[in-house]
Amino acid sequence: TYVVTDNCIRCKFMDCVEVCPVDCFYEGENMLVINPSECIDCGVCEPECPAEAILPDTENGLEKWLELNTKFSAEW
Ligand code: SF4
Repeated sequence: TYVVTDNCIRCKFMDCVEVCPVDCFYEGENMLVINPSECIDCGVCEPECPAEAILPDTENGLEKWLELNTKFSAEW
């Protein structure tokens, strides 16, 4: 899955939401999040993010962000 990280906080761009083929972006507190169980790992959103906030969860140190994406996307 892909994960939205701190660069997204207070970002006003929605480019990622528009390109996601499965509509798995949700609004968290001050930022967008990706629902890990809906994300199909296509990678389309990563280069579209002007804030470079979206990363694959295979990168190190993203556990906290993955948890937060999971938590906020589950509230919908
Ligand atoms: Fe959506 Fe693809 Fe990005 Fe996952 S990787 S959030 S499916 S655009």
